[in-house]
Amino acid sequence: MNPEKMVETMEREALKRCAPVYKLKNRLSDPFKILVGAILSTRTRDEETLKALERLFSEIKDPKDLAKMDVKSIEELIKNVGFYRVKARKLKELAEVIVKEYNSKIPENFRELLNLPGVGRKVANVFLTEMGYDTIAVDTHVHRIANRLGIVKAKSVEETEEELKKIFPRSLWRRVNRAFVGFGQTVCKPQKPLCSECPLSELCKKVGVDAKTSMHSSAESLQRG
Ligand code: SF4
Repeated sequence: MNPEKMVETMEREALKRCAPVYKLKNRLSDPFKILVGAILSTRTRDEETLKALERLFSEIKDPKDLAKMDVKSIEELIKNVGFYRVKARKLKELAEVIVKEYNSKIPENFRELLNLPGVGRKVANVFLTEMGYDTIAVDTHVHRIANRLGIVKAKSVEETEEELKKIFPRSLWRRVNRAFVGFGQTVCKPQKPLCSECPLSELCKKVGVDAKTSMHSSAESLQRG
């Protein structure tokens, strides 16, 4: 299967199965909200990210508002996301830096982004992708699926990012993260991948996939009718 067809297949399945990642995309409008959303989303389900993001942005509209808030109030608004205490602290620091050093405008440069509080490689890449730059943001879904499929053999997300950039043409990079994440939320799930229903099953090497878990998903499909 060529890379474009693979991405299209994942997108189609994810959309058909209403992957939460697409709901999140539809709510992201301005750069600051995109960056905050990317930070909130680490180690958190998209449904929960969305709730926290909506609550936070019902109280603020820009980095200045966030910089003025105290950490406890931020914690209260985002407490449904993973590591909310650390994230609340980092968000306040981030807002202060953006106001003071960047005149409230988010830099669109990978190195500068990495220097911001709370921003790591994945968050920076998600942000740049959303802003229209060609890059591949690799999170646990992307890393897991690429390795299960056998298209990469990588131990770290950084290695996976490097390998995927060689496999997928640049014109597809911006679509890779959302396609893989949506597919990982609905078909190639972490614990029980639905291999029996997967359109990529024939080409997939199923590296590290437990056969019993796969069979379990077949039984589930039969029960669902
Ligand atoms: S066949 Fe199974 S392991 Fe391979 S991509 Fe599909 S769901 Fe994932």
